Amino acid sequence: MTECLVATSKSPYTLLVHGGAGWRHWRMDDAKEAAFRAGLRAAFAAGETVLAAGGAALDACCAAVMVLEDDPLFNAGRGASLTAAGSVEHEATVMTGDGRGGAVTLSRQARHPVLVARAVRDATEEVLIADPDDAFLAAHGLEVRPNDWFVTDERRDRLAAVRAGLPEDGTHKHGTVGCVALDAHGHLAAATSTGGYDNKPVGRVGDTAIPGAGTFAKDGVVAVSCTGRGESFMQGVVAHQVSARLEFGGQDLVTAATAVVTAELLGRGTTGALIAVDAAGRGVVAWDSPTLLACWRDGDEILTHV
Ligand code: ASP
Repeated sequence: MTECLVATSKSPYTLLVHGGAGWRHWRMDDAKEAAFRAGLRAAFAAGETVLAAGGAALDACCAAVMVLEDDPLFNAGRGASLTAAGSVEHEATVMTGDGRGGAVTLSRQARHPVLVARAVRDATEEVLIADPDDAFLAAHGLEVRPNDWFVTDERRDRLAAVRAGLPEDGTHKHGTVGCVALDAHGHLAAATSTGGYDNKPVGRVGDTAIPGAGTFAKDGVVAVSCTGRGESFMQGVVAHQVSARLEFGGQDLVTAATAVVTAELLGRGTTGALIAVDAAGRGVVAWDSPTLLACWRDGDEILTHV
């Protein structure tokens, strides 16, 4: 079943953050749940601080995503899922409502893949760079780390378990992180960053590197960030499809988000989630996965869903 929650904002800006959809249910003790909530809130606060100061939606999205990339609990940046070879291959996309996007895949060294995507958007004529080399990273002033720095013990253990063909132990989540924002100037943006999934084939590219699939923004319409089995999001062009349903199909945000999750995820027998904000500042979280991590504001309250 597709579930849907609506976010309201009393401010002239709106922000939603997600920390990934669990493709299967995972057990979480109280301490871990508190840590996930704290991570989501820290990311939300980083983004909202930018918006409250009159900053741009893209700056807010990058600020929020960078916090989650640095938090090893989340599947992005440090602590991301490992490939079948035990290495980390990140991907990320940013997009602004003026139609400009940037993306990176097979990123192995950048501390913040979202900033690589941003550099592609801001400073190149390209849209997607694979395996950015030292020269690219240095030219854009991007911080680098050895690939091992991103690899945590928890992910190593998980990879060993998956390789050994052990049944799902319920302790693990997959995921991705993302943010959507409407700023006080009426501009929309979205950013998404991921390590993919455990034991993914080396060189596999997912929706998080493909503008329109896992991330999309169009001023006057909507900004969308997705998480879940990327193959479904790519084949369903999910993020753009939400936008098209609003712009050309006359649907409202809740109807469009719910319909897309139902058609493209449930309908393909896979699970995932999306967050979106429309041009009027209405936010939505829609998912068909067993679990979902997200944070948004409901009136005066900041809510987390874990
Ligand atoms: N969408 C990501 C991918 O397929 C993974 C996820 O969001 O869980 O790479």
